[in-house]
Amino acid sequence: MDTMDTGGSTGSGLTGATGLRHSIDVAVIGAGVLGLAATDALLRQGVDVVCFEGREPGQGQSGGLTRTFRHRHDNEAVVRLAAEALTGWREWEKRCGRTLIGPEGAVYAGMEEVDAEGMRRHSVAHHWVDGSEAGTVFGSLSPTSGPLLVDPDAGAIRARRTIEMLTNWAGEHIVQAHVHGVSVPDDGEGVELQTADAIYRARHVLICAGTATPHLAAGAGIDIPLDCALHVRPHFPVREEFKDAPLPCWVDRSGEFGETVYGSVIGSSGTYVVGLIGASVDVPMNAGLPSGTEMESHARRLSNYVRKALPGLVPEPVGVRVCVMSKLPGGSDAFGVWHTPGVTAVTGHNLFKLAPVLGEALADCAHHDRLPAVLAEATEHALVEA
Ligand SMILES: Cc1cc2nc3c(=O)[nH]c(=O)nc-3n(C[C@H](O)[C@H](O)[C@H](O)COP(=O)(O)OP(=O)(O)OC[C@H]3O[C@@H](n4cnc5c(N)ncnc54)[C@H](O)[C@@H]3O)c2cc1C
Repeated sequence: MDTMDTGGSTGSGLTGATGLRHSIDVAVIGAGVLGLAATDALLRQGVDVVCFEGREPGQGQSGGLTRTFRHRHDNEAVVRLAAEALTGWREWEKRCGRTLIGPEGAVYAGMEEVDAEGMRRHSVAHHWVDGSEAGTVFGSLSPTSGPLLVDPDAGAIRARRTIEMLTNWAGEHIVQAHVHGVSVPDDGEGVELQTADAIYRARHVLICAGTATPHLAAGAGIDIPLDCALHVRPHFPVREEFKDAPLPCWVDRSGEFGETVYGSVIGSSGTYVVGLIGASVDVPMNAGLPSGTEMESHARRLSNYVRKALPGLVPEPVGVRVCVMSKLPGGSDAFGVWHTPGVTAVTGHNLFKLAPVLGEALADCAHHDRLPAVLAEATEHALVEA
């Protein structure tokens, strides 16, 4: 990774320097999955772009090994985006010659026909299985009283591999620098960015800084109501005798086993992550550091759930990941993209799966300095309390 050259033109998108100030066409802030996907799309469009990252790429919310790719969402517009994103994932796989979304599929409990309406409307393959035959689609699962919805083209995203691939594609266009702030001076000469080493002016700034997006966007007068909380995700070993049985991604909204949860296999590691979903399962970060006791109690609840619902897993976790969840008022699948001349900012939750399609759309915002209608609609939806 480069540090920024302080003079003249470089391959990393610096188009010139006047005194202490450097000019850039597009500056992306953040090398998480979205910033990297947007940088890649901009590079493919021939745009001069610099992606600023204060740490290592993929160490924020995009960290870790696995994410679920699923089609089903309450908001139909997101079902359509997910279907488009899958095409993008397959293109990325072709470019890098590796699997990025596994063939595991996804299984949902606690759903009714109306919950699959978006899938039906957008021609996304799906079918129902009787809960008494749960083991045929999810080997580790106990029989369920209700039917199970199967999303066969879903799967576990190889998250770390995706970040490595995108980081390679962006190459020297990633610059290691923390951006202290963004502002829009009234001299009409672009948007200003400050780092410890330099001041930059960009024609367009794309803020993809995850939980830090609201802080940076505020400098451009954009107000984003994002809540952040800590989330516990223990992982459990798959029992030897279930290792060859189907191990799909899992969403259980039925409450039949005492909790609502999601789950996903971690690649070929023989372990499976399970996390709680729903209101009040994340520990707010606003009131200082959350207590370890609260986090442990969540891990215990998940062990109890595994004992009842997933006998194919060993109910004692072999590891845990504590991570930051960021949520807009519209709930856990809501995301928003805000635009003002010269600045676009994105944040929300559950965005990993949408990275190929959001990367293209964000690149479009930066290239043409406008917000496409589909992103404006998603943002409106994200601001309505779930
Ligand atoms: C536990 C958990 C489970 C999840 N499960 C799923 C799932 O199953 N499916 C799914 O699709 N999504 C899931 N998500 C959500 C998904 O991982 C995130 O929505 C996505 O990774 C966000 O990517 P991002 O690029 O927007 O943000 P981030 O990955 O957070 O990237 C932001 C980057 O900006 C950098 N940065 C911040 N401030 C500055 C600054 N001032 N200067 C320079 N750099 C800066 C950070 O260092 C970071 O690298 C999950 C998230 C978590 C935490």
